[in-house]
Amino acid sequence: MLVFADYHMHTPLCGHAIGEPEEYVKQAVKMGLKEIGFSDHAPMVHKPMPGITMTMDELPKYNAMIEDVRKRLSGSINIKIALESDFLPGYEAKTKAIINSYPYDYIIGSVHFIDDWAFDDPSTREYWKVHDVNEVYRKYYALLRKSAQTGFFQIIGHCDLPKKFGARPTIDLTDEINATAKVFKETGVAVEINTAGLRKPVAEMYPAPGCLKIYREAGVPLTFGSDAHDPRDVGRDFDKALDLAQSVGYKEYLVFKQKKIEKRIKI
Ligand code: ZN
Ligand code: FE
Ligand code: FE
Ligand code: ZN
Repeated sequence: MLVFADYHMHTPLCGHAIGEPEEYVKQAVKMGLKEIGFSDHAPMVHKPMPGITMTMDELPKYNAMIEDVRKRLSGSINIKIALESDFLPGYEAKTKAIINSYPYDYIIGSVHFIDDWAFDDPSTREYWKVHDVNEVYRKYYALLRKSAQTGFFQIIGHCDLPKKFGARPTIDLTDEINATAKVFKETGVAVEINTAGLRKPVAEMYPAPGCLKIYREAGVPLTFGSDAHDPRDVGRDFDKALDLAQSVGYKEYLVFKQKKIEKRIKI
């Protein structure tokens, strides 16, 4: 059986993706998907960051743009509207206002910032040299737990993102991952298998198999996402993602509608 829902893709409004939403939809149909969700980067809550996320002014445009393709192209595929929202401690009220400003089908909560450092941004890659890699990972997992505890998110995005450029912890962080899995289970969030890691220096999906196994054993549900920033990447490597899911024992994944689990799909 096939994975037929890709729940993580972007639009040019974030400033670092290419291709019109319609092209993403067409590629999804071509790849044999039955459902997709647009999850572009929600406006940054501490300061506008054009080139990283859409701005507040662009949010209504995003909603209208996705509704437009939904209206025109829904015959061939289910189209969900979502956001990928950063988790920045201290800005919960503003984050909540954004994610509740429209009937989104789900919100992906992603940690891309540690102490104001966008650690996955290639332009700040040199900062890795001045940070203790183990400390970065510890802080990262603590932020993942906090983000799940907000209750804002249905899905936690690419949940071992610090490995993107190849930086690996030099100590065993199993306790951190176990603690995170426990919080994910308690708060009801899903994790995603995100295939974009295969296209990054690390050349590995998020999360790593050992990490995903811990989430599965804790009973954390699953979604799939390509994190496409280019229409050609929609549904990419989903055969590998399915293998990974099955190899750690997942039997199903979730699709959402208006922030509720709509269906559990067997794999
Ligand atoms: Zn992006
Ligand atoms: Fe992300
Ligand atoms: Fe993304
Ligand atoms: Zn992402």
